[in-house]
Amino acid sequence: MDLWYTENHTEEARFSIKIDRQLVSRQSEFQRIDIFESREFGRILTLDGYLMVTEKDEFIYHDMITHVPMATNPNIKKVLVIGAGDGGTVRELLRYDSITHIDMVEIDEEVVKLSKEYLPFTAKGLTDERVHLFFEDGLKYVRHKEGEYDLIIVDSTDPFGPGEGLFTKEFYGNCYRALNEEGILVNQHESMYYSSYAASMKRAHQRIKDSFPIAKIYQAHIPTYPSGHWLFGFASKKYDPVGDLDAGLWNNLGIKTRYYNTDLHVGAFAIPNYVKEQLESE
Ligand code: SAM
Repeated sequence: MDLWYTENHTEEARFSIKIDRQLVSRQSEFQRIDIFESREFGRILTLDGYLMVTEKDEFIYHDMITHVPMATNPNIKKVLVIGAGDGGTVRELLRYDSITHIDMVEIDEEVVKLSKEYLPFTAKGLTDERVHLFFEDGLKYVRHKEGEYDLIIVDSTDPFGPGEGLFTKEFYGNCYRALNEEGILVNQHESMYYSSYAASMKRAHQRIKDSFPIAKIYQAHIPTYPSGHWLFGFASKKYDPVGDLDAGLWNNLGIKTRYYNTDLHVGAFAIPNYVKEQLESE
């Protein structure tokens, strides 16, 4: 009998991947964690039945959530990563010699343990000495920080369940305070193609705009996420992600990427009208 992983992207649209076998299924204090093996997408991590990472297309998400801010400000040294238990974001950040310290705050220790065991392709950097792991709620963690970080990356689950607090006004305000005067905040911003999250992401974008002087949206094509058209938020106290990009400087670093490049960096901020209209609608 064929086994399929199926995610309902709406009540009327589903996305399925043929599965070879299930490697693990565990209920943690926060969520159900499943890891599958598939021929088309390699290993797959899902949380509460929602797809988080596949071995085949994770590079797109992790390139775009890290290299966009890193190329915008070449002086980033101290980074706070919230969520990101699979390790892919930290793996990409560790490619920069300029980064001396990464604090990673993941609410669910089980995600990190299982990723280290089953997803070494993303988790391989989590034991690096520059990485400091904290297992707690990112919302609470940032309440007590002031002017400490050059960059905060919010690599969270969706705006419900444990991740809900990471889309609130309180959280964005605390991120602003936790960043220094040159600070950048990048977050995973869902998709606005299906209506499921469109209203909550419009609210989230407005909250970021209320907290930061510069707030933009950028996009990437991620085949296994709902609709395949994914958005990220970029907010900053000082840097414009397009105007301040020094493409030559980043290209001279010699960091090889499979998705990100500096032309695409600029293009990614040219968002389609249907997204603009939803963000600007009353
Ligand atoms: N790339 C993924 C995506 O967008 O689908 C996100 C991957 S990563 C596995 C998301 C992580 O955020 C999960 O491991 C989850 O436990 C963590 N998380 C959710 N809410 C959190 C919170 N409030 N504080 C810290 N981590 C949180």
